[in-house]
Amino acid sequence: MTETLAPVRPGKLIINGEKVDAASGRTFTTVNPATEEPICAVAEAGPEDVERAVTAARAAFDAGPWGRMRPAERQRILFRLGDLILEHGDELARLETLDNGKPIFESRQIDVPMAANCFHYFAGWATKLAGETLPVSPAFFTYTLREPLGVVGAIVPWNFPMIMVGWKAAPALAAGNTVVLKPAELTPLTAIRIAELALEAGVPPGVFNVLPGKGSIAGEAMVKHPGVDKITFTGSTEVGKHIMKTAADTVKKVTLELGGKSPNIVFADADLDAAVKGATTGIYYGKGEVCAAGSRLLVESSVHDEFVAKLAERAKKLQPADPLDPKTRLGALVSEAQMKKVLGYVETGTREGARLAAGGARQPVNGKGWFVQATVLDGVENRMRVAQEEIFGPVLAVIRFDDADDAVRKANDIPYGLAAGVWTRDVKKAHAVARRIQAGTVWVNAYNFYDAGMPFGGTKASGFGRDLGPESLREYTQVKSVWINLE
Ligand code: NAD
Repeated sequence: MTETLAPVRPGKLIINGEKVDAASGRTFTTVNPATEEPICAVAEAGPEDVERAVTAARAAFDAGPWGRMRPAERQRILFRLGDLILEHGDELARLETLDNGKPIFESRQIDVPMAANCFHYFAGWATKLAGETLPVSPAFFTYTLREPLGVVGAIVPWNFPMIMVGWKAAPALAAGNTVVLKPAELTPLTAIRIAELALEAGVPPGVFNVLPGKGSIAGEAMVKHPGVDKITFTGSTEVGKHIMKTAADTVKKVTLELGGKSPNIVFADADLDAAVKGATTGIYYGKGEVCAAGSRLLVESSVHDEFVAKLAERAKKLQPADPLDPKTRLGALVSEAQMKKVLGYVETGTREGARLAAGGARQPVNGKGWFVQATVLDGVENRMRVAQEEIFGPVLAVIRFDDADDAVRKANDIPYGLAAGVWTRDVKKAHAVARRIQAGTVWVNAYNFYDAGMPFGGTKASGFGRDLGPESLREYTQVKSVWINLE
């Protein structure tokens, strides 16, 4: 318990197994969104630090112990890291909540176990990545080797700082790559701490490096660096497009997990009480700062009024509160800028003709913090900006539909394609609609479920490639074909 109350130590860069200051000596201050007060100073990586980290990661890959280690040993070390994350669960959850503003309930019960789950799950893959024997001719013995790519640059956003370390670093390391990870500038603390725990678990120096710093400086330098073989990126579609263009100069592989505006579709034959709960957690979990948030609620016209009334009642009960209180379910938005952006969208929505059925305002807690009420915008048309653009906050846009065809048409009439929900008791309809929705994930009678073993990623402007599950290992490995002449 004393550990969870300890003051937060200044954050350092983790390069080649050491906690170091930035070469420039620069630091930035990370701020608690619930109190608007500084948490601590953090070293700010610049191009020289990227150079140092990539050199260390390159050496650890090319000559170092990681790639040459027996896979069973890599497995043991990564599994140990999963255990250490669980053992330090209180400390990590507190850091995440202080840095991001999310409720401690979520950090402790969801983020910590999910991050650990990634290391436990992918540890198992270290010993199971195999090539194939492919009999193409009696004159040759032909087989493939599944090999790591080399140095992986991971660039991640602020909404799930700890989970993102698990999503990116665990499969990359399990496959034998080395990693340089840049956390988002707003939330660097848990990635730094997990890198320290990785050293304690036995991950050799240089294998997992963490560089807090600005996207436009440290992130950009990573994407341009010829010593980085792959960029795995999660963040906004705008930055993702820029990264893809920049990575082209060094022919880097890229995986892009980008934004979303996911439809959560409620048919009249659904268990409406369950769907109300699912719609609520679909948007307000993580304060709506969730790429897969069910931010467009499509409701069949015949149950629309009843459904929205229940939903609004539930939203009004969900009051913003101190994120460190275990009872809190709606925390603070990550920054003042994000709060202003979200409130700006509420204004845009009402100006476009939507009706405010719940929330819509800032609601400080103890006179402070970037808290926004759980908000429902009803009467939204799919063409409105609040229906088409990612708000990334606790704002739900409710849109009516007439039948399954209309629901699918509206669901797909959007540039994004990350996730979707379908609520119905009709099993045929559930499967048929799941097939027709353009999205990387479809939940039926559920929303916001994730597991290290289940692939996650987008279509259309939500990006390409997959995190998690066996699929993600393809993102961190390549195949070599070997021909042995037998004649
Ligand atoms: P962002 O795109 O602004 O930043 C993401 C990361 O990219 C940060 O670490 C940032 O420093 C870095 N970055 C910024 N400019 C860069 C540049 N020029 N070169 C290299 N790196 C750069 O996104 P954000 O505001 O941190 O996060 C919110 C966004 O992330 C939302 O759009 C959300 O949908 C998306 N997201 C997607 C998923 C997914 O799995 N699809 C998951 C979580 C978040």
